[in-house]
Amino acid sequence: MIIVLKPHATDEQIEHVVQRVEALGLKPHLSKGTYRTIIGVIGDEEKLQAAPLEAIPGVAKVVPILPPYKLASNEAHPEPSVVDVAGVKIGGGFLAMIAGPCAVEGAERMDAIAKAIKAAGANLLRGGAFKPRTSPYAYQGMGEEGLKILRDTGDKYGLPIVTEVMDPRRVELVYRYTDMFQIGARNMQNFNLLTEVGQTRKPVLLKRGMSATIKDLLMSAEYILSEGNSSVVLCERGIKSFDSSTRNLYDVAAVPAAKALSHLPIIVDPSHATGRPDLIPPCALAGIAAGADGVHIEVHNCPEEALSDGPQALLPHQYAELAAQIKKLAELFGKTISPTRGK
Ligand code: PEP
Ligand code: MN
Repeated sequence: MIIVLKPHATDEQIEHVVQRVEALGLKPHLSKGTYRTIIGVIGDEEKLQAAPLEAIPGVAKVVPILPPYKLASNEAHPEPSVVDVAGVKIGGGFLAMIAGPCAVEGAERMDAIAKAIKAAGANLLRGGAFKPRTSPYAYQGMGEEGLKILRDTGDKYGLPIVTEVMDPRRVELVYRYTDMFQIGARNMQNFNLLTEVGQTRKPVLLKRGMSATIKDLLMSAEYILSEGNSSVVLCERGIKSFDSSTRNLYDVAAVPAAKALSHLPIIVDPSHATGRPDLIPPCALAGIAAGADGVHIEVHNCPEEALSDGPQALLPHQYAELAAQIKKLAELFGKTISPTRGK
């Protein structure tokens, strides 16, 4: 950490900062210029981060050297992490092909969609049983009944399942059914929920909040990692913008930007990022080309009857075409789509 003093800070002020640093058990290194003094401090940055040194008269700013997301950072962990979701690998050269409807709507529908996406090459099945809806009057999901349907369908087709948990009080229930928790964009900074899933040892798909920076996303991942759960996959799903031509603004640069800072896998969700089926295929391919460790895509066999996010769903045959293109791109980049069990 570097403490930069204000120009013409007095000797008494500088001495006071030195004493404060020493009182924290750290060693200050002074560098005095004509107008400015800087103090370098090597040691446990956390101690300094907790001390409000900027409040001391004469201090201009305090510049941390280490990132505050120390477990998510690739400084501490230079190799890319590989997350294993019931045998399906994500990251380190393995691509996740997560697909399924926005919401679980019933056993028959789930079966038809799962069968189609499995045949197309998906390796993880998604579906929400608890839906975060903007309106309290909109469809809220099937609850535990939906979890059972998703579990049974996943087992039938040999597809591990991913489903959203919105409430720390439901972590235990969702844990009993799912292979991977999804933390939705709206809950990215629900710190109690992050702590709760962090205390389990099930993989977590952490979606970027719609107004969250990449650093905010990594700090949220840090909540999960710091509880001892090392299986975190990040997801870029679009951020708020002024332009209503797409549902959100797809930030494809977030993929290499997150990878420059973190060892955690990151996938893209062009369904929620664009909200438009015509834009999903090019944006999914752009994500893979940018280095994403997979794609998360909503598929429905009858979008006009979907209970949520119907307008952005791909039809099964559209998904199959896209999956075939992703496979070609994966080969080009030397990536593998982790296989699943069963037919
Ligand atoms: C979803 O995956 O259906 C969903 C609600 O996503 P997000 O949290 O990204 O809006
Ligand atoms: Mn959705």
